[in-house]
Amino acid sequence: MASAPSVRAHAAPLAEVDPLIASLIEKEVERQEHNLELIASENIASRAVREAMSSVLTDKYAEGYPGKRYYGGCEVVDQVEDAAIERVKALYGCQFANVQPHSGAQANMAVYFAFLEPGDTLMAMNLAHGGHLTHGSPVNFTGKMYNVVPYGVSPESETIDYEEFHRLAKEHRPKLIVSGATAYSRKFDFARIRAIADEVGALHMCDMAHYSGLIAVGEYPSPIPYCDFVTSTTHKSIRGPRGGMILWNDEKYSKPINMSVFPGIQGGPLMHVIAAKAVCFHEAAQPSFKDYQRSVRANADALAEAMTREGFRIVSGGTDSHLMLVDLRPFGVTGKVAQAVLDEACITTNKNAIPFDPEKPFVASGIRLGTPAVTTRGMGPGEMAEIAHFIASALRAGEGSDEISGVRESVRALTARFPVHF
Ligand SMILES: *Cc1c(COP(=O)(O)O)cnc(C)c1O
Repeated sequence: MASAPSVRAHAAPLAEVDPLIASLIEKEVERQEHNLELIASENIASRAVREAMSSVLTDKYAEGYPGKRYYGGCEVVDQVEDAAIERVKALYGCQFANVQPHSGAQANMAVYFAFLEPGDTLMAMNLAHGGHLTHGSPVNFTGKMYNVVPYGVSPESETIDYEEFHRLAKEHRPKLIVSGATAYSRKFDFARIRAIADEVGALHMCDMAHYSGLIAVGEYPSPIPYCDFVTSTTHKSIRGPRGGMILWNDEKYSKPINMSVFPGIQGGPLMHVIAAKAVCFHEAAQPSFKDYQRSVRANADALAEAMTREGFRIVSGGTDSHLMLVDLRPFGVTGKVAQAVLDEACITTNKNAIPFDPEKPFVASGIRLGTPAVTTRGMGPGEMAEIAHFIASALRAGEGSDEISGVRESVRALTARFPVHF
């Protein structure tokens, strides 16, 4: 008779059960340790966040909302979700929150499905000027389902052209206006967008995915007072687990939003991730988080200035946030080449189109840089100047050159001074 599988085997460590995946995770730890992470949408979650995320809460089905679940045994996870909701409401000063969206894209989808019908007009930032895929890209469901009216920046200032914005809104009368972006470094004028939305009878949603960490502590203007709904990721500047959320103030939106997330577009919530979101919101309420975000901002200014001194052009001349777009044309390289050369030097970035880019998006004339991850490591303005110099040296040297290995050695020496995973 076959014996029942031992429950003890269930407790064996990953390295024993699956050496391949264990060793790959170890390699990723090393990569994060040695590389300079400058991707603006990435950060390094704390050990506490990761502990909550890898907890037994992954086992629990909890379809529904606290107190109104479709499954038994939810008395503990109800408290977890309530804690996440209460903490995020206190953090941003809003009345209602849904912390179940599995990602930023899901959070946006939930709002769109709650308030738009197919064919409705959606006004959002032009992807070529910094908007996100879920703001109307033709390859995304938003571009396929809605009539998308893109707004953008003016060629002179490279900041949002609000007069044109106003004109487009009056002409197209969108049902929903989306503020927020993925590659726009400047402040949004949320009050002005609210006024335009009111004038044309549109709802206003801000997708604060990139800025949410800064906003939590007042280092970037809060969209909450000027929006019907605010969506966000929880893994970018706010430094929590990978996930999404929706915030709002008017009770009349509660039912449509909650119904849209579940049962509209998702099944069971990821309770382990919701627990990690709660930990993230707790961390973000500590005084040290404000210090952290101040440093993120100061480092972004320092990096933009240092990059300018090295001969790069910063789109719009600087930044009001944690990120910047770098125009590489003064160096005569494309974003695609730059990303590859910098990878060789252990500097991780992403190529990015700049406004009115003459290159195709897959090639692009720019790279996007952000300071959340390097600031989490403890780097400051002095290191930002070093980093700008490494980037300039690597791009001057070019792919496969001897000088590149020199830059890589310098990057390794710098990162060795700022360990991430202990
Ligand atoms: C990153 C981002 C998203 C999408 O987040 P995912 O979690 O990757 O789905 C949505 N909107 C904006 C503005 C973003 O920057």
